[in-house]
Amino acid sequence: MPEYDYRCKSCRSEFTLFYKTYADFDAAAPVCPHCGSVEMSRLIRRVTIARPGRDLSKLSAQQMMSVLDGGDSREIGQLFDQVGQTAGVENMSETYRETTDKLLSGESVEKVEKGLQEQATASPPPQAEPKSPPKKASS
Ligand SMILES: [Zn+2]
Repeated sequence: MPEYDYRCKSCRSEFTLFYKTYADFDAAAPVCPHCGSVEMSRLIRRVTIARPGRDLSKLSAQQMMSVLDGGDSREIGQLFDQVGQTAGVENMSETYRETTDKLLSGESVEKVEKGLQEQATASPPPQAEPKSPPKKASS
């Protein structure tokens, strides 16, 4: 998955944008997530993800938990994305893909989690529990 680093010419912050495909990158107009400026220069970094310790799909379960606990939605998104790619993108569920995209776009973890919970409670029909007649309290 292509990813590109930018430096905003207006607020000087650096950030990384991710694209699903190179065609997406060609079509996209990068916007600074901090100030909304479109004036930016691309930073060339050779292999961002391959920095030691940054192959998130190879993290131990404990390290993954610490990423999740960190609450950095983009980092968690990267984790999701890499784990998903390791598992095979074609097999990624729609929900998983959506969650990853939301996180990568910087949506707050809380919001994404809430959305997932709402989805989880909404999609499967509530199981009808067999109603047993109320027992009379024996005094
Ligand atoms: Zn900016």
